[in-house]
Amino acid sequence: MSQTNDTIFGKIIRREIPARIVYEDEHVLGFHDVDPKAPVHVLFIPKKYIPTLNDATAEEAELLGRLMLAAAGYAKAQGFADDGYRVLMNCNTHGGQTVFHIHLHLLAGRQLQWPPG
Ligand code: AMP
Repeated sequence: MSQTNDTIFGKIIRREIPARIVYEDEHVLGFHDVDPKAPVHVLFIPKKYIPTLNDATAEEAELLGRLMLAAAGYAKAQGFADDGYRVLMNCNTHGGQTVFHIHLHLLAGRQLQWPPG
């Protein structure tokens, strides 16, 4: 993806707008969701611009794995990994995606319902 990332998450990566950042490494940024759907709701995003999961290629397989490992590492560091949590990624309209820069939701802190609806 070579186009400019004009999404809200692109602006967070570039520090043009604030976010409550909880995790950062060379490839991944993690920050609190502004409208939390659970007591813990953190988003993990790649710094590389990928609009939807449909746009990811085999070249990004490791990067996608990094999102998962960052979320699990955060859960362990925060002490709720054993109680459990959910990670999920929405894609396009039926998935409920509203921000078109891929992000892994980490939800925790209460019993989560399944199926999510
Ligand atoms: P999705 O619907 O899967 O695309 O998720 C987008 C998420 O981004 C929603 O849970 C929003 O609450 C969240 N969100 C939108 N704007 C911001 C922001 N500026 N900072 C943090 N989270 C945001």
